[in-house]
Amino acid sequence: MTTPAYRNHKQAVLQALHTDRANGLTSTDAAARLNQYGENALAATPPVPAWRQFLATLKEPLVIILFVAVVLAWASAGYDFLVTGNQAHGMAAIYESIAILLLIGVNSALGFWQAQRAQKSLAALKTMADHHATVRRDGEWLTVPATALVPGDIISLKTGDFIEADVRFLHVAELQTTEAHLTGEAEPIQKQTHAITAEVQLGDRTNMGYSGSTVVAGNGLAVVVATGMHTELGQIADLLNQVKQKKTPIEQTIHALSKKLMVVAIAIVFLTLGLELFKAYAATGTLSITAAAEALSTAIALAVAAIPDALPAVLSIVLTIGATKLAAARGLIKSLNAVETLGATSFIASDKTGTLTKNEMTVTRFFAGGRTYQVEGNGYEPAGEILDAAGEPTDATAYRRFMLAAVLNNEAAITKDDDGTAKPYGNPTDVALVVMGHKAGIDRDQLLAKDNDLDIEIVRVLPFDSTRKMMSVVIKDAGQYQVLTKGAPDVLLNHTDTVALERGLTPIESARAQVEQQVLAFADDALRTIAVGLRNIPEALAKQGTAAELEHHLTLLGVAGIIDPPRPEVRDSVRTLHQAGVQVVMITGDHAATARAIALRLGIVTDSAARVIEGAMLEGMDDQALYDIVPAIRVYARVTPAHKQRIVHALQRHGEVVAMTGDGINDAPALRAADIGIAMGINGTEVTKDAADLILLDDQFTTIERSVAAGRTIFGNIKNFMRHELTTNVAEVLALLFGVVLMTQGVGQVSATTPTLTALMVLWVNMVSDALPSFALGYDVPEANLMQQPPRDPRASILHGMLGRILVRGTVMGGLVYVAFLWGAHAGMSAAEAQTLGFLTLVFGQLWHVFDARSTRTLFARNPFSNGKLVFAVAFAAIASVLVTLLPFFNTVMGTAPLSGQLYLAVAFLPAIPTFVLSGLKELIWALWPARRPYAKPGQPGVPARD
Ligand code: ADP
Ligand code: MG
Repeated sequence: MTTPAYRNHKQAVLQALHTDRANGLTSTDAAARLNQYGENALAATPPVPAWRQFLATLKEPLVIILFVAVVLAWASAGYDFLVTGNQAHGMAAIYESIAILLLIGVNSALGFWQAQRAQKSLAALKTMADHHATVRRDGEWLTVPATALVPGDIISLKTGDFIEADVRFLHVAELQTTEAHLTGEAEPIQKQTHAITAEVQLGDRTNMGYSGSTVVAGNGLAVVVATGMHTELGQIADLLNQVKQKKTPIEQTIHALSKKLMVVAIAIVFLTLGLELFKAYAATGTLSITAAAEALSTAIALAVAAIPDALPAVLSIVLTIGATKLAAARGLIKSLNAVETLGATSFIASDKTGTLTKNEMTVTRFFAGGRTYQVEGNGYEPAGEILDAAGEPTDATAYRRFMLAAVLNNEAAITKDDDGTAKPYGNPTDVALVVMGHKAGIDRDQLLAKDNDLDIEIVRVLPFDSTRKMMSVVIKDAGQYQVLTKGAPDVLLNHTDTVALERGLTPIESARAQVEQQVLAFADDALRTIAVGLRNIPEALAKQGTAAELEHHLTLLGVAGIIDPPRPEVRDSVRTLHQAGVQVVMITGDHAATARAIALRLGIVTDSAARVIEGAMLEGMDDQALYDIVPAIRVYARVTPAHKQRIVHALQRHGEVVAMTGDGINDAPALRAADIGIAMGINGTEVTKDAADLILLDDQFTTIERSVAAGRTIFGNIKNFMRHELTTNVAEVLALLFGVVLMTQGVGQVSATTPTLTALMVLWVNMVSDALPSFALGYDVPEANLMQQPPRDPRASILHGMLGRILVRGTVMGGLVYVAFLWGAHAGMSAAEAQTLGFLTLVFGQLWHVFDARSTRTLFARNPFSNGKLVFAVAFAAIASVLVTLLPFFNTVMGTAPLSGQLYLAVAFLPAIPTFVLSGLKELIWALWPARRPYAKPGQPGVPARD
């Protein structure tokens, strides 16, 4: 196109793009254009190639230590071959180096594999959260991924949508967009469809929409003129930096912890080296190279022992698995951070309509012309009588004007499915009014049809917005312009001059009380109320007037009472959440009495006089006043989205972790402010989905409850495997340190410088007998009392409350390993046999301990077989660890030696004793002093948790 689209008439733009406004592109044409122009996406920076990701895993500190060990082993082998001539010893060192290399390979492969897998799952989740666009192809409206848009596509836009490409508007209804990302101008811009003859700046091209803009009001129709890198956004895309994947708080904690442990490890290594060399010198009077090599190998074993190398890998796997599982349960998490925060959620502020209720709205009663009527019938079928107060069928004359206004001021529709069932389109509130009209024989399409004796035409639409709480249309009825307005009765009444009552048009002053009483009567029955009014206006006002000018001096025609049944399963979810110490708050634009009545039915409040805070009251409160009352309030009514943000902030000041739902565009700031922003997957706007951390794919409140439980499960599992991992590390380090410090002279065949465990034994423990069960802990099922404890304190360290337990268990286990080793030496065993004894004691000690670690309480609190993966991992680790002591190859490589049958039995079962005894002691203490029990027993909520 030579002339830019904004300077051309829209017809010319359509022609130039070879497209058709009524039918859009054909799907074949669209596919061909997609081929030609490419995907509608900004060019991403190329991903880091796999081999570089793999190399990155080799840069880990642990791996470097292992490489140093390999070099040392080679040096030692060389010394043997060339100087001492001890071929067997030299070969052993070579085997050791090969084994270490193998382990480096396995470790790196595991790290690499988990990184790949995490990336893939996250990418899959991201695609699910991708932007979509509504496009007309082959004459049908479709929802397609935004990447599928091509120049020439006809798209429809409504409030809350992102504009996904550069477009030229064809039709607009009060459409406003923000283009701050391109122009820096934050104010919304009113769009129009006429060609602009002069050459103007981007910000003044009011007939164009730009990729990355949001529609903040109104709706419209547009044709795509540019996609992908050809859009205005694409021109500056280089300036937009790729956002880096942030580490979650737990990942950060663990990263920091690993660094600290590195320092500890290095310190221990030098200490050991010094001590061992001193010991060797004291024993022999000289320093041999062999002694130095032995001291080094102990030091290396210690370094390896001190680093919980499996933690980072297991951690991101657990988080990713959690997010994937949650998505299957209809909760789409957009970042791993959110998984963690979900588990700490203490307040859930939820929209009422559609989340707590079904959003299947039906008018059951209405008030018009001073009388009330009942409407029968369910669902969207036109069947259902309209009865008067005496229960007699009525004819429509008395309330016809009310119905006409309700149906004309409305964008919803009912269509017939292929099988003849009625299907609603549009906003459920409007749908309810359309169905009501059908029951009275009034149909919008018939009213507007050209072939009847009416002459009604819709001139303008001022769409509903939740801040104004009104919607209007301007119509031309037989030459007379009228504005039809409907909305929240309390709002509408403030713009009303007269009310149509039985005695005729009555001034608002004398009619107000009657109307308000009627509204309250509906609201107390949990009905949503909508008032309908109209006003005759002159042509100039009709064409030019703003919403504020038009929605004034109305005549009130009536009020509809709409039932929106609570979702039946929500009551149970609310109860579960209350037991879990999570408060549920209802936020709605509806009337206070409607809100309270529904809250009562759902168990959100139990007192029929529960305090309800209304938006107007919030306006009158400063932040301090709101802060003072916010913890006690469970229902907010007649609020606007701006209030939501204040509620979030007030709760957060109390230290609460707040989850907030939203569906409209104005909710986005509140969702961003909340710790967990929750968007509706079905009814939510694109903008809110973009701002959210969690998307409810099914729009259901129960999914929030499940997400909180999942967040807690994941966090609990992470704690459990950290507890296990760290206990093992403490045990390994102490077992070796006891040897270094306490073994001052040789015992039997075992020399003073022989380490309790060989470096390869420690490696084996870290990578096989410890890593596999830890991994399985990450998959564990939730503990039975998970949702009966209060939420955790988000500021407390993940290690809070576990350190004592880790140190006690670690010390006992490490001590036991050293004792086993020493016992072997005293019994006259060879060094290899004594070390094997220590090794197996450690392995089995761990394998028993893992069942204890998976419970926040004690070993006895959980069925050991409820995690099949764990049982399998433990069995595998046990058998493999015994095998490496039996097979000659491993004997040579790892320095193990076969033991007698009795000893195998002893090392398998004796290490269980401390675990059982310590757990038993704890249970005993809690039985004697119940107040010391940190956790409530299932079914007894209210006892605060300590970790
Ligand atoms: P919520 O989403 O919490 O139900 P809304 O902002 O949708 O709150 O609605 C607030 C009030 O606005 C309703 O109680 C009703 O009176 C009015 N209202 C809702 N939808 C419409 C609509 N489509 N047209 C006119 N008024 C409406
Ligand atoms: Mg709503």
